[in-house]
This record gives sequence, structure tokens and C-alpha cells, in this order.
Amino acid sequence: MEFSSKLLENAVNEMSQLPGVGKRTALRLVLHLLRQPESQTLNLADSLNAMRSKIKFCKSCHNISDTDLCEICANPHRVANTICVVEDIRDVMAIENTSSFRGLYHVLGGKISPMDGIGPNELNIKSLVDKVKEGHVKELIFALGSTMEGDTTNFYIYKQIQECNVITSTISRGISVGNELEYTDEITLGRSIINRIPFETSLKS
Ligand SMILES: [Zn+2]
Repeated sequence: MEFSSKLLENAVNEMSQLPGVGKRTALRLVLHLLRQPESQTLNLADSLNAMRSKIKFCKSCHNISDTDLCEICANPHRVANTICVVEDIRDVMAIENTSSFRGLYHVLGGKISPMDGIGPNELNIKSLVDKVKEGHVKELIFALGSTMEGDTTNFYIYKQIQECNVITSTISRGISVGNELEYTDEITLGRSIINRIPFETSLKS
């Protein structure tokens, strides 16, 4: 692609780093940004800048947050001894939308995937195991979706806390086979949380 402007070329190159955005799409988006009012484009740039430099991760559950402790962890009306283990913030948002869960979350930041070089140490697993070992957790709900990586991750965590006095459960398997949590409809997801099953039962099925 030949560019008449180095500034334009740089913007297109940066834009094309985004997932699913090729050079042609990047050019289309950049030209759109040039055509719209300058203030709108600057607002976009400012919001990205602020997000990248100011955003935090909750020191308890690792959810993305504007404050040290996220709004969910800081809410005294949540059931603090019930923790739902999820992969990322999209799962938190999906489950929150169901209004069926009043406990807290623990965001792992991914799933164990040796093929991609992601082991337990790359994820927020140790802090979860520590939380359970401290004895404040009554129930852990695994909500990782039943891919091979999800199963591996669930089982790894389960093994770490098996000796602890904690109930482990999993959201019903039907909902997430070949389907990420975020794509499941709210009613089904909400029901699967309410009707969660003991984790040991899921191992036998
Ligand atoms: Zn939190």
C-alpha cells in the first residue's frame, strides 16, 4: 500500500494491529476518523489514553476497575464467601447481567493452555488458592466454560484446594459447550448459576 502521507501511513499501521483489522479496513477507519469532526476523533484518542494509563485491576478479584477495590468487591451487600471463578471481565459482565448471582468473582485472566505457553503462573490462580486457604471462602463456583483449557484449569484449581473445607461447584455443562459464556443468553446463564452442580459430579459425566 502506497501512502501520500507518512502520518496517514502510521495511523493505518497502528490501526491494523487490532484483531481482525487488515490494512484495507484500517485505511477505511482512519479515513472515517479524518472525515468526522476533529473533536470526536480527539475524544476517542483521549479515552484510549486515559483507559490505558489510569485503569487498574482490583487487588482482590483482579477485575478491571477504576479503583483499588472494584465496585463488586467493595459492595457490603454482596455475599463475600461465595466466589465465582471466571476467565475475564466479559464473563463478569455476562453473569452480572443475569442478576442471578450475589457473590464475588475471581478473574483468572485466561485459562491454562500449554499450547499457548500459558501455565498456572501466568494466571491469577495463586491469589485464589490463598484466599481459599485463609478460610474465608465457603463456596467456589467454576464458570470457565467446558473447553479442554477450561476443564484443565478447573481441575488444576480443584486439586490445589481439595483439602480445604470449601464447596466446589460448576455451572451446568450444557450451556457452554462450544460456546463462550458471553454468548449465552441471560436466562440460560442465570439458571445455570442457580442450578449449579457439585464439581465432583461434573468430573464423572
Ligand atoms: Zn474486585
